[in-house]
Amino acid sequence: MSVANAPVIVAGAGPVGLAAAAELLRHGVDVLVLEAESGLPYELRASTFHAPTLDMLDQYGATAPMIAQGLVAPFVQYRTRDQQMIAEFDFRCLSDLVKHPYRVQVEQFKLTHILAGLLGAKPGFQLRFNAKVESAEDLGDQVRVTLADGSVLHTPWLIGADGAHSAVRRSQGIEFEGFTWAERFLVLSTPFEFGDVIPNLADVTYYADPGEWFFLLRVPGLWRAMFPVAAEVSEETVMTDAFAEERMAGVLPGRGGYEIRHRTLYRVHQRVAKTFRQGRVLLAGDAAHINNPLGGMGLNGGVHDAVNLGAKLARVIAGESDALLDLYDRQRRGVTVEHVQKQTIQNKQNLEAKDPEAARAFRQRLSETAADPAKAREYLFGISMLGSLKRAEEIQ
Ligand SMILES: Cc1cc2nc3c(=O)[nH]c(=O)nc-3n(C[C@H](O)[C@H](O)[C@H](O)COP(=O)(O)OP(=O)(O)OC[C@H]3O[C@@H](n4cnc5c(N)ncnc54)[C@H](O)[C@@H]3O)c2cc1C
Repeated sequence: MSVANAPVIVAGAGPVGLAAAAELLRHGVDVLVLEAESGLPYELRASTFHAPTLDMLDQYGATAPMIAQGLVAPFVQYRTRDQQMIAEFDFRCLSDLVKHPYRVQVEQFKLTHILAGLLGAKPGFQLRFNAKVESAEDLGDQVRVTLADGSVLHTPWLIGADGAHSAVRRSQGIEFEGFTWAERFLVLSTPFEFGDVIPNLADVTYYADPGEWFFLLRVPGLWRAMFPVAAEVSEETVMTDAFAEERMAGVLPGRGGYEIRHRTLYRVHQRVAKTFRQGRVLLAGDAAHINNPLGGMGLNGGVHDAVNLGAKLARVIAGESDALLDLYDRQRRGVTVEHVQKQTIQNKQNLEAKDPEAARAFRQRLSETAADPAKAREYLFGISMLGSLKRAEEIQ
């Protein structure tokens, strides 16, 4: 087989790599996914899927099983630490625009397992484990991919969906521009049922507070709470039961003794690759951009990249101009910078606002928006990422 007809190689069997594979296969393009690990990872990580992402994943048959294994969350709330409601929004007002007008709360490892199961049955799909991509070299008419075990593969096109530390991005010398926040984020999960003690609590609730913002987010059987952790606190301290107890005690005064099932501390970055396309090498998902998790836009944006890229690459393979791949870069990199980075930074600043006037203005703006159906719809159009998808379509 000539290299021109060899499968497209996707580095990384994360949600983005598998979504890219699904889109390519949908258009009849063969795909080989190379995954560094010995199986699909089981980390909790992201757990929020927005309405347009659910519509996209529905094309591959993934959304129904995600709903079956997850929670449908039509509401999002913003509260103050003393449980005063600032605003509540109902995604169902978008039902004329999307098939799934809500968020689905489901751990990302469930999506990768669902997608791998659906794709595994398809001819033209291969998934290889213990296959860590070490580097890639664009030879002009093909890409040479070198694995950590020394073996070499050739492909007409390589998609780097190999996460934030992307070996594909690094081997192409593509800068990952941006910054890292000084504070880290701590996620604690507990089976404690906050819904039993906080009246009308939505499954996704953000708490604005000048001292310490946090959010509560429900996945099946667990609540996840996220808190910022100051730079000077050592990781050793953060991982103690006492530290977790103290953070959780701030959620509901006077309540303690939470069972903590998972705790994860991670660095938070706002970075975007200088380009999402260099010759025959393409980047998508965390390999191309990373952001703070406030708003749940990282993984969703990555799936939007995968679908946009998969459809365009299939057209190029079918004979159209490869300028379509520059359009992928302009559209997806464009909205990543204009929308996702801007919005997630703004979300963090709104929740943590220390200046009393800025905090008051945020609360007022949000409660006025929620009270006005037209403004609420516009707001939900933005936070569900329909706005960034519309904008991407406008970019030529
Ligand atoms: C602790 C944590 C919590 C998070 N929480 C949220 C959240 O609440 N909301 C949100 O939107 N986002 C969150 N994120 C970000 C979200 O998880 C990512 O945006 C998402 O995983 C991106 O998917 P991806 O497929 O691009 O990359 P990944 O999920 O990182 O997948 C990359 C895959 O590539 C494989 N791989 C890596 N290197 C190689 C290589 N050299 N060769 C072959 N395979 C390779 C990896 O093993 C992995 O399977 C979180 C991230 C972390 C770390």
